[in-house]
Amino acid sequence: MDFQTIKNQTSCTPAFILNADAMINNLQILNTLRQQCGCKILYSIKALPLSTVLEIAKPFIDGFSVSSLFEAKLANEILAGQGSLHLTTPGIRSDEWQELTALITHLSFNSLTQFQRFSSIPAPQTSLGMRVNPKLSFLKDDRFNPCRPHSKLGVDIDVLWQSSDINQVKGLHIHNIFSATDFTPLVKTIEKLRQYFGAELAQLDWLNLGGGYLFNQINDHRPFIKLVANLKHDYNLDVFIEPGKAIIDNTGHLVTTVIDLFVSDGKTIAVLDTSINHHPEVFEYQRQLELNEQVSKGRYSVILAGSTCLAGDLFGEYPFNEPLNIGDKLVFKNFGAYSLIKANRFNGYNLPTIYRYQNQQLTKIKQYDYQDYRQQWLAD
Ligand SMILES: *Cc1c(COP(=O)(O)O)cnc(C)c1O
Repeated sequence: MDFQTIKNQTSCTPAFILNADAMINNLQILNTLRQQCGCKILYSIKALPLSTVLEIAKPFIDGFSVSSLFEAKLANEILAGQGSLHLTTPGIRSDEWQELTALITHLSFNSLTQFQRFSSIPAPQTSLGMRVNPKLSFLKDDRFNPCRPHSKLGVDIDVLWQSSDINQVKGLHIHNIFSATDFTPLVKTIEKLRQYFGAELAQLDWLNLGGGYLFNQINDHRPFIKLVANLKHDYNLDVFIEPGKAIIDNTGHLVTTVIDLFVSDGKTIAVLDTSINHHPEVFEYQRQLELNEQVSKGRYSVILAGSTCLAGDLFGEYPFNEPLNIGDKLVFKNFGAYSLIKANRFNGYNLPTIYRYQNQQLTKIKQYDYQDYRQQWLAD
């Protein structure tokens, strides 16, 4: 992808560029994996539920994975009955149960109490399963560790193992990792599942291994292929994976323009026409994004700042070879996952314009304006 051409062609910034070629490449990697081991692939739409993304993914995958009624409705519009729709959430509401279960094909209850409250209410089209907390932590930061102490996600494996409810479910679901670049956590988790449930797994129709693995960044897929093939051989069940970030993160980029430059306490500040509004995780987790224009030992160091009133609305300090100028365009890379979906209009700044890039062509696919902001905040 030629970022200079992209910058020349984006008339409206901030601009979110969806690289469809790169996305198809990610999907082809998964498709090959599917052929090699027979797993089924769902796209976890919460990473970026843009309809264009769902349409591009649809021919390569077996369905979508969703977290709520709204996500289920949107995914269903795109799927139109052709594929699986899996849901797990701590937030199932009794007033949504009927509408929800008319849409989804698979549901993993998050707790035994949720199971006991809902499993007897008819849901003829939905295969009912349970999310297990395997009690294996592979993440140091508890903010996104599903197996943290006192976790709210999934039924404790030590409890589920002894519960008779396990005999009434058709599937199990696990998800206990984030941005993993090797399969060791999965291998260990499945080992534990086998130790606890053994031959009982053969009574299930399906096992959902969750998301969290960056398949496109893992070179050796053999441990995964072996693991899935063994599961299918030993227990004769469908094995699903539901990646989000692995499909979308490296396919999204944000083009932004420098709109002011000044010196503060001896350091140069560049104010951008974007902000952490457009990628709240930069602030939440204090992450520094990769910038297309940064150089490893640049002579000019600049603090890239967002344009909202929040003092901590900063992207970090970046090195450049030359001083920046007002009007320069910069590109934050790997901006695809968990960015736009969490974006907001704090301070009244607009959301990015969205472009699709494919075969060296850039097409504008969505532009927000004052009417969108107005509709959100004007009382009915
Ligand atoms: C968030 C989530 C996913 C997708 O995770 P990625 O890290 O984007 O691959 C899949 N399954 C569940 C249950 C999740 O919570």
